[in-house]
Amino acid sequence: MTKVRGYFSDSYLDARETFLDAARRAKGDLTSFMNPNATGVEDEGLATDMARFGPADAENVLIVNSGTHGVEGYCGSGCQVGAIQSGLIRERARNTAIVLCHAINPYGFSWSRRVNEDNVDLNRNFVDHEAGHPDNPAYREVHSFIAPTDWAGPGRAAADKAMEAFIAERGEVAFQAAVTGGQYEFPKGLFYGGQAPVWSNVTFREVVRRVGRGRRRIALIDLHTGLGPSGHGELIYSGAESEPGYHRATAWFGEAHSTKAGRSVSAVVMGDITEAIPSELPDAEYTAVALEFGTVPMLQVLDALRADNWLYAYGDPKSSLGKQIRAQTRSAFYVDDDTWKGQVFSRASEVIRQALSALGA
Ligand SMILES: [Zn+2]
Repeated sequence: MTKVRGYFSDSYLDARETFLDAARRAKGDLTSFMNPNATGVEDEGLATDMARFGPADAENVLIVNSGTHGVEGYCGSGCQVGAIQSGLIRERARNTAIVLCHAINPYGFSWSRRVNEDNVDLNRNFVDHEAGHPDNPAYREVHSFIAPTDWAGPGRAAADKAMEAFIAERGEVAFQAAVTGGQYEFPKGLFYGGQAPVWSNVTFREVVRRVGRGRRRIALIDLHTGLGPSGHGELIYSGAESEPGYHRATAWFGEAHSTKAGRSVSAVVMGDITEAIPSELPDAEYTAVALEFGTVPMLQVLDALRADNWLYAYGDPKSSLGKQIRAQTRSAFYVDDDTWKGQVFSRASEVIRQALSALGA
């Protein structure tokens, strides 16, 4: 257990150093992408780091990605460091490489936000921005109370009341879908998908091209937290059950939960990061899943996201309230507890092992 605890870090800066150090010791092939648009909470530079283990021309590649939702990188980074230090990265066939993409949204990781430096939810940003953005009329209904202008006093109380009334009338599932489905209309709101590909989007596409071009089969495990029972890791397939990718995912992992079939802890989401693979590597066979770990109850997660959004839109992130809200957000997406870390690492290892074994077969 002590060993597993050591995989996880207390800040983006520590996580980055630990990851780079582990990757170097294990003789990984490292590439770093600096984010020129922002700095971290400790004024540090922000980067996405990529480590490949196995030949550059391997027939098959497994990409394990962390921090799509910034703060969720506390968990994802721990799983990646653990994969290196436990030797899991070596459990692959000769024809298969594993690529760990660390902190694809380093700003969100450093600042304990789910979104990036543009307040964009990266997992809603992989839509075709030229084609016109999807409409989300349900978000329009909830925006005013989900993103209140006051975080204390009567404004906040009225917003909470309106939120309770919406949930009582329409149910938690409809509420979750309205809030989390993604929206392109309120740049200062929640689950905003942006108007153009953001830095992390462009960078992830670059990673995918570099490691995937010319390869026959690509798999992606994108690590997330915040939905589902605490410590439980659900495999989410963001497509329909009729797709070949879904059939492969269920064959490899035993089960995968399709959002489109309504069988997942996640609502149907537009423009998630898995879209990068077919769009950059149209000739490869690809199998992409999200591995989502539960933390705390949904309304507690949402409360943190509302606070975080208020801080971004109306507050001062450097104030003591700002610090408090960042801590609240971090504990909504990362359970700093040995039992939880043990469960998470063991499940992540199982899924990585299954993918490596299926790819190498
Ligand atoms: Zn997430």
